[in-house]
Amino acid sequence: MTNTEPKLRPCPHVISSIEKIAEGSDSNGLFMKYVRKHVEKCSHCAEALEALECYQAAVREAYSETIRNGEKPFGEQDLSNLLDSLSNPAQ
Ligand SMILES: [Zn+2]
Repeated sequence: MTNTEPKLRPCPHVISSIEKIAEGSDSNGLFMKYVRKHVEKCSHCAEALEALECYQAAVREAYSETIRNGEKPFGEQDLSNLLDSLSNPAQ
């Protein structure tokens, strides 16, 4: 039995708006209202939003920790380590 994460499959027509919501956009245009309603009903998009919010929070945390330590913001290797740790939270 394989233990792969289910792939996130948000509906293509709302992906970019879901990203904006995850980034904390409080835009309240008609389409954003529609997208928020859609996310409430669509499990694919709800999962994608949750994952994106998790990711955003982790990136912000890693970034501010780096700044606190007086280091340069993380490079690509750190980002890939971060993504690895996000996809293997138990380790
Ligand atoms: Zn959807």
